[in-house]
Amino acid sequence: MQIASSVAQAVGGTGLDAVQPMKSGWYIYMHTQADRECLIQKGLVIVGKQITVRSEFAPKQAQSVKITLKDLPLHSIANNAVLMGLKEHCQVLSEVHYSNVWYEGKPTSIRNGDRFVYVAQQDVGKLPSQVKIAGAVARVFKPIALTKCKRCGKEGHHPSDDKCPVHASEVMADS
Ligand SMILES: [Zn+2]
Repeated sequence: MQIASSVAQAVGGTGLDAVQPMKSGWYIYMHTQADRECLIQKGLVIVGKQITVRSEFAPKQAQSVKITLKDLPLHSIANNAVLMGLKEHCQVLSEVHYSNVWYEGKPTSIRNGDRFVYVAQQDVGKLPSQVKIAGAVARVFKPIALTKCKRCGKEGHHPSDDKCPVHASEVMADS
């Protein structure tokens, strides 16, 4: 079935629970919250067309947060090793997914080497900015809202952002 294979392509593996044709469109049910969020974020490509997936129901399970990992050699580091490395720091709620290259506002089927997982929101603060995985060191990227600023220690902005009180006071002092 086209939807099933498109869903498998988007989230990888066997995350699909059910596909239900309704008057208003297709209802897609996923086994885990993480796969559900992944699908909503990525959308579906069905017969070469990008389809937007809408969220209909409030999440029941623990809030999950997308974490992106960079600098992991694509072929020599297995996803299992990635999971094991991360589980030392936090609870991982999804399998490991590959990020794709985006072109003209759409994801292509070409991977860009980044990988991402969903982790429990309450654990995000425990994750260091670098994680050792099978001899490699991955840089860990959290959503900006949950990233601690290196300058002032508060969450939600980059150190070079005007929102940072320390940065703002330094700019004032310079001028
Ligand atoms: Zn700051």
